Amino acid sequence: MEAYSMKNPFPATVVGVRPVTKPGSAKETIHVDYSLEGSGMSYVTGDALGVIPCNDPALVDALIAAVGLNPEAEVPTPCGTTTLKEALTTSCDITNLKKPVLTKWNAVANSAKLAAILEDKDALKDFCWGRDLLDVATDPEMKAEFSDAAAFVGILGKMLPRLYSIASSPDAVPGQVSLCVGAVRYTTAERQRGGVCSTYMADRIAAGDKVRVFVHSNKNFRLPEDGNTPIIMVGPGTGIAPFRAFWQQRVADGATGPMWLFFGNPYQATDSCYEDELAPLVESGKLKLSVAWSRDQAYKIYVQNLMEQAADEIWAWLEQGAAVYMCGDANRMAKDVEKALLNIIATKGARSEEEAAAYLADMKKAKRYQKDVY
Ligand SMILES: Cc1cc2nc3c(=O)[nH]c(=O)nc-3n(C[C@H](O)[C@H](O)[C@H](O)COP(=O)(O)OP(=O)(O)OC[C@H]3O[C@@H](n4cnc5c(N)ncnc54)[C@H](O)[C@@H]3O)c2cc1C
Repeated sequence: MEAYSMKNPFPATVVGVRPVTKPGSAKETIHVDYSLEGSGMSYVTGDALGVIPCNDPALVDALIAAVGLNPEAEVPTPCGTTTLKEALTTSCDITNLKKPVLTKWNAVANSAKLAAILEDKDALKDFCWGRDLLDVATDPEMKAEFSDAAAFVGILGKMLPRLYSIASSPDAVPGQVSLCVGAVRYTTAERQRGGVCSTYMADRIAAGDKVRVFVHSNKNFRLPEDGNTPIIMVGPGTGIAPFRAFWQQRVADGATGPMWLFFGNPYQATDSCYEDELAPLVESGKLKLSVAWSRDQAYKIYVQNLMEQAADEIWAWLEQGAAVYMCGDANRMAKDVEKALLNIIATKGARSEEEAAAYLADMKKAKRYQKDVY
């Protein structure tokens, strides 16, 4: 059987796409199920799925019109010759502005404005943030006339895959893989934009479609071998994804170790996730759920605040050998949660700052503290 990988992704059939959050949520989140039937691919709970998206056809059409090329012109790609439109849709990165592509663009455009931006690191960073190639192509001071479609495609980087924490257990749903995805949407320079892969899945795929995927192993995010070990899972927003896989796995295994999930999102009315699946686990006492609705009151509450409020109990769990998992935003959440954890260890464990850090380092070494942050 063919071995599928990042270089040779499997065309997985979409089983279904459904919203997780409610209409009006600022944290628009979707759930996608793919079938892995016939792929021979397998994964372990805690792994990620690589997805190779297609660009938004409206953006592709606008870009082709702006560069004044024929969409049906033949161009070479690593997968053989195809049309310009197909290549820009499936194989080329047209949204991520980076110095190399802008430099190659300016070798054709000879724009003084773009040259000045390229020479100034801060100006370049500022220009690239939230813009795409259509902004360059439609700027009258940056116009480039490519000799032909192949010359244009030749300056572009290739479409890169995006990784998503797998939100299912292979033992709970054999032959399938689920994702929990936050749609990235924003407005820059008066144009509404979407993250390529997240809006591909949120807006442009439906049951029966084929999507290019591969399994990305994550050996550093694994459930404890002993199903009796208590686990504390901290996953606000789409950080809940791998924990859905964890609770599915523990149920499939009949494991009895206590589970505690810290989840968070802005508003309870629109932003709850998987509540129908969590409710029976909470009711049966298998899972303890602490939710931080950050904006449902005058002051903000985040998962780390709930952890601090539950310091005594968290410390008791840690002393009973609990493993702690964290998933989601690497920029702020991960640092704040780690700080809260260190604080709990120091205050409840009567340890100095250094001793608390050593305690957490020991947990990490024993694989009792694992992070999947991005
Ligand atoms: C190991 C791992 C696991 C992950 N798991 C998940 C998961 O389970 N669920 C999930 O949803 N995501 C997950 N991610 C993130 C995911 O891989 C993508 O990065 C995310 O979906 C965005 O990809 P995109 O193609 O939609 O956006 P892209 O097309 O890559 O666009 C992102 C870019 O858009 C621009 N941008 C974004 N917001 C703004 C703004 N407000 N203003 C201006 N510019 C902006 C920035 O240039 C940013 O770099 C994970 C990442 C990793 C590494």
